[in-house]
Amino acid sequence: MKKLLFFALAALLLVANTSCKRTVEGESNKWKANKQSVEQMRANYSNFGAAFDEILEKAEAKMNEAESASSEDQSIKLMAEANGIISSSFVNKLKNFDRKVNDIEDLAAKAAQIPGDHSDNDAAWVAKNSADRAIRDARNSLKSAQISNVAAAEGVVSSAMQNLERAEKRLKDVISKTEKKIDDKEKAEEDKKAQEEAAKAEEEKKAEPVKCGYCGKMNDPGAKECGSCGAPIEG
Ligand SMILES: [Zn+2]
Repeated sequence: MKKLLFFALAALLLVANTSCKRTVEGESNKWKANKQSVEQMRANYSNFGAAFDEILEKAEAKMNEAESASSEDQSIKLMAEANGIISSSFVNKLKNFDRKVNDIEDLAAKAAQIPGDHSDNDAAWVAKNSADRAIRDARNSLKSAQISNVAAAEGVVSSAMQNLERAEKRLKDVISKTEKKIDDKEKAEEDKKAQEEAAKAEEEKKAEPVKCGYCGKMNDPGAKECGSCGAPIEG
């Protein structure tokens, strides 16, 4: 058990170490992970094959250079470059695509559940529908686009992501507008209640007998001067 703990600690230290300083092992692990994820995406988006091949070819050439580098530092540098190439822009965006879709679906569900009035519900419904459509369109464009190189891949993925981001913004706007309206309404109700309570307190005060400041006699509510000494009564 102690031994296990020791190894766990050693592994943790190793991870912590590689995260702050680049090592051959760290870059090589990164490379394996990157390559695996690219291969997975390549299977999902077979129409992007040419673009993935272009990137893989470039990145693998860098990895080969790294293997025959003159020093370890040079080798690490080249491996880091290879990792940069294999996870470059369109690959990264494509990797984030599903997460973005999930975020938008969560927002759409939230917008649909938010308790608003008729016009809020209509706006939420419209935003949710357009988000559903944006997701569908973005998925279709990713699946059906004819991609012949990295530049084409960049264009298609960027525009799909932009459509998603627009839909996301629309949903966020609808939600925050409705939430603000609900807040405003609550605040207005609180203000109204406070005003009513103040008015009630004022009424009650008027109905109370008033004490003369000079002689101390109690006078009828609303009396202007003391019935006993004639002093003016300040209300
Ligand atoms: Zn008096």
